Amino acid sequence: MIIAIDGTTSSGKGTLAKRLAGHFGLPHLDTGLLYRAVAAKALREGADVADAETCGRLALDLDLTDFDERELRSSSIGAAASVVASHGQVRRALFDMQQAFAQQPQGAVLDGRDIGTVIAPQADLKFWVDADVVVRAGRRYRELAGMGEPVTEAQVLSQLRERDQRDSTRADAPMKAAADACRIDTTAMTPDEVFAAALNAAGER
Ligand code: C5P
Repeated sequence: MIIAIDGTTSSGKGTLAKRLAGHFGLPHLDTGLLYRAVAAKALREGADVADAETCGRLALDLDLTDFDERELRSSSIGAAASVVASHGQVRRALFDMQQAFAQQPQGAVLDGRDIGTVIAPQADLKFWVDADVVVRAGRRYRELAGMGEPVTEAQVLSQLRERDQRDSTRADAPMKAAADACRIDTTAMTPDEVFAAALNAAGER
């Protein structure tokens, strides 16, 4: 069984993906980490994240174990990842790896922005997870503050808006819900409620 989970930043899609993977005993890939790793590699090498050619080359031989996950989850890497992810060269370089992960014999759970639309359109179950942008900014702010990042909630809100805009308007694989995705609005939901709603939808399908 392939489960595709797409949605906006800090909507709760990552938490849902981990819980579904645990529940069904499936391997899980957070595909955002791949784009974050390409961005981190570019910054490490002093490359311009707007340079599609160079970033595409850096994405070709990516090894996630070269990176510290805490560093990858910072807001500066998140913003750079969104720029890097707009390059077709980068998306093509990461495509095979994600498809191979999805097509493991036992199945898999992948979360990102284009899983149900591009990477695994054949997925058995698709979710689109979203929430009000102000609520998402609050969640992300608390997460970043917990990691010791000196940001304000207003800064996080404007970064999220910018990232949503870039991710949903890029030419290549823009962030969007698959037509057959089950939509979950987590604005007023706890992670337990989101998980229960997803299991319910899975049962119905
Ligand atoms: O989900 P996360 O915030 O870690 O993703 C970082 C960035 O990577 C996103 O803003 C988006 O631009 C990009 N991304 C993508 N496609 C995916 C996963 C992430 O374009 N499947």
